[in-house]
Amino acid sequence: MAILQTNFAEALGYVKDRTGIAALLLAAAYVLTIVYVGKLSSKIEVKCTSWRSAVGIVIFLALNIVLMIRTGDNFVTSIFKETRNYQANYEEYMKQKESRNQYLADIMLANDTGKPGIYILVIGESQNPTRMSAYGYKLNTTPWLNSMKSDDNMLLFQHAYACQVQTVPALTYALTAKNQYNSLDLKKAVSLIDVAKAAGYQTVWLSNQVRFGSWGTPVTVIAEEADEKIWTNSHQGNTLDTEYYDGELINRLQNIKRSDKMLIVMHLMGNHISYHSCYPAEFEKFKKEGKRSEYDNSILYNDHVMELLLNMVSAWKDFKGLVYFSDHGEAVNYGKSHNPDTFIFDMAYIPMYIYLTPDYRKENPEIFRNLHAARDNYFTNDLIFNTVLGIMGIQNDYFYEPENDLTSVKYNSDLNRFMTLYGKKHVSEDVIK
Ligand SMILES: [Zn+2]
Repeated sequence: MAILQTNFAEALGYVKDRTGIAALLLAAAYVLTIVYVGKLSSKIEVKCTSWRSAVGIVIFLALNIVLMIRTGDNFVTSIFKETRNYQANYEEYMKQKESRNQYLADIMLANDTGKPGIYILVIGESQNPTRMSAYGYKLNTTPWLNSMKSDDNMLLFQHAYACQVQTVPALTYALTAKNQYNSLDLKKAVSLIDVAKAAGYQTVWLSNQVRFGSWGTPVTVIAEEADEKIWTNSHQGNTLDTEYYDGELINRLQNIKRSDKMLIVMHLMGNHISYHSCYPAEFEKFKKEGKRSEYDNSILYNDHVMELLLNMVSAWKDFKGLVYFSDHGEAVNYGKSHNPDTFIFDMAYIPMYIYLTPDYRKENPEIFRNLHAARDNYFTNDLIFNTVLGIMGIQNDYFYEPENDLTSVKYNSDLNRFMTLYGKKHVSEDVIK
């Protein structure tokens, strides 16, 4: 899926990250052997000199067919079958765009206007909280977030997990009404951008990630719906390079035309592999552990970017709140990245925090109280959709689920229900071990 839903350069980077020279040589040797055997086989002559050899050949061929059918469902073919299913689902999601918008137009009520103000949703990338000092890591990788822990307006969540461990599938659920706990059909799931627009918000999508290629993804479809789209990465389509570090998003944000009712989504490059390309040289503070230190440096830079961002928007008179979460984690502690085939829980651990302004708290004391009490609750990031709607006050029964909204007293915090990997793993397995 990662290879299909991206451009050639990123796909090449993905393969390089997962294979060494030895594996590539082995693969090349394998392909050459197949070609060689294929050539040899064209020279084979079959001679039927008796009825016995004819029967023997028929039995041999029949057995081969039986073997092919009986072993057709295996771990190699399942990769292709599952990918084809995912892809079909996603293509359907794109095709159904018009009907989702019509549906929204039909069900949005006159009072579904949400709370006024500017709300910001920041999506981090491949961030593992076990490498963040605010979550107890030994090195001081998040000095700003550490200091914000004592700020009454900041809420740091301790048990957040990703619903999937790759960007596109994780964000597809995080940004739409679809989640692991409902039986909604993905193609009918309205997105946060769609809903905010229907409720009268001005919507902005800012991204420092490579714009996806011709395959397209639900995330691209959702982003393209925004009133204003800013992609800092003009290299889209053909390269892995980001011309800018994430800090550039803040410069761009400064220049957008603001109104008093907005939803701004920011998609960071965050802590994606290759880690060293995610931060400028002055953030090269940690050096002892090779790639892991590079990862720590990228966390240090992310902390700095978030500090700049919150300082800037706090000066805006209509700013009400900011939600930060990562799409998934990164198994950097185990020398792995993030890949469903080699899943370990480090790939699903994510940081999450919510900042609400004193104004917002004054106007919505109950929401703040509920969130404050929920800081130790379990949470998976496919519930971001409902939680952001809870903060913005858009609660239409057709798509909003209070049991999945952290701001609601009805939030279902029962550990046993929480899952990751699109329902293939129970979070309780991680807690109990
Ligand atoms: Zn990701």
